[in-house]
Amino acid sequence: SVRVRFAPSPTGFVHIGSLRTALYNYLYARKNDGKYILRIEDTDQNRFVEGAIEGMLQAMEWAGVNHDEGVVIKDGAPVEIGEYGPYVQSHRLEIYQEKIKTLLESGHAYYCFCSKERIDEIREAQKAAGEMPKYDGHCKGLSAEEVEAKKAAGEAYVIRLKLPANTDIEFNDIVRGKVVVNTNDMDDQVLIKSDGFPTYHFAVVVDDNSMGITHVIRGEEWLISTPKHVYLYQAFGWNAPQYVHLPNILNADKKKLSKRQGDVAVEDFMKKGYLPEALVNYIALVGWSPEDNQEIFSMKELEEKFSLERVSKSGGVFDVNKLNWVNAHYIKESSDDKITDLAIPHLIAAGYITEAEAQEKYQWLKEMVSVLKEKLSYIAEIVDHVGIFFKTEIKAEDEEAAEILKFEHMAVLLDAFVVKVSAVEEIDDDFGKKALKEIQKETGFKGPQLFKPIRVAITGNSHGPDINKIIKVLGKQNLLSRIEYVKT
Ligand code: GLU
Repeated sequence: SVRVRFAPSPTGFVHIGSLRTALYNYLYARKNDGKYILRIEDTDQNRFVEGAIEGMLQAMEWAGVNHDEGVVIKDGAPVEIGEYGPYVQSHRLEIYQEKIKTLLESGHAYYCFCSKERIDEIREAQKAAGEMPKYDGHCKGLSAEEVEAKKAAGEAYVIRLKLPANTDIEFNDIVRGKVVVNTNDMDDQVLIKSDGFPTYHFAVVVDDNSMGITHVIRGEEWLISTPKHVYLYQAFGWNAPQYVHLPNILNADKKKLSKRQGDVAVEDFMKKGYLPEALVNYIALVGWSPEDNQEIFSMKELEEKFSLERVSKSGGVFDVNKLNWVNAHYIKESSDDKITDLAIPHLIAAGYITEAEAQEKYQWLKEMVSVLKEKLSYIAEIVDHVGIFFKTEIKAEDEEAAEILKFEHMAVLLDAFVVKVSAVEEIDDDFGKKALKEIQKETGFKGPQLFKPIRVAITGNSHGPDINKIIKVLGKQNLLSRIEYVKT
């Protein structure tokens, strides 16, 4: 049965492309009643970033891309679940030591004692000659005795893959089709580093094999390494998994998406208040397309409809406007309670309310959110719209508003409006509509002549959300004090 894995290296923030790789693995497993595994690839200790594992797992949990086996956070600390562990490569060092022996014994690997200086030198020379930089095989012919003597003398070494000369390595990629690379164009890859740790290339093959992985679904940047992996499977006498290399995610300018052009970290989108359903929905479509033109997918629908056959070969463009459209859709569909809860931290951070007020004024905040919800691409934007509900001094915010404030009939309208507002105990949903209609009858002013002055008097803006809703949210006291302020 299908077993797939997402194998992040804990080297920093979670790139949006990693979320997509994880998602496709997850979807493929769900679709096929398989298992989805999360393995931590931390063999490069120099690149390890504190907290990166926790950040990765939190992002995945937030997105609802949940794994069946691997590392999970329990009581604040990473623990491992599943029968194929350990799922953290630095906990598997003995396994790699064991496996490398097999390759040394079968003659598929060899010790290399070359110094870094020597390797750099030959690389420089090769580059200068316009050749592909590649180990020259200097240590390939060392006898067992020579190796033992050097080890006994305490010389540092790595262990390299011994590739045969001029041999085609072939594999099939579900997205790319048949791939063939000749060993003459490949390097004798280091498998075990001088610190005793395996390289990614060695560990990934050992782990995917021992964890029973059937499909390796990963980013296109690994395609170039795959022939080495395939050869390692052959050297071990194992069956290689199916390969699926996902197209890059690109910017609008068709370059690979990178931090310099804006948000690329899942954490950035979390902070701005994108909904996980929206980000997952959108990112699923960057590199995969359904058979019809459907654009809005629940996770459940994605689980049913996803297929590797419809993953595209060419890069998918990350279009933040499209993402915003999808996110706005999910915000509109969400309950006012949910959006209010999500909005509150942003309102507190912007200084509009305190923690205590968030509780006391919850109902009021919810009414405000219900008015503004349809304007939001993401939740953080709410702070750009709430100003009209929090100000105490009304002044013209734009030129049109300044003109309107000078209208001769302003005083007549405001007086009439104050009478209406004062006459009721509380402003209900229909109050605004009714009051404006009555004032129209009483004063003869109608249309923009009527509601624009009222709008400016209570908000300071000539444009904005539905006037009736603003009247409702502001409430009796606010309305009276604002009009009082404008009149004096
Ligand atoms: N650890 C690799 C990464 O961080 C995983 C590559 C693979 O899936 O084989 O991208």
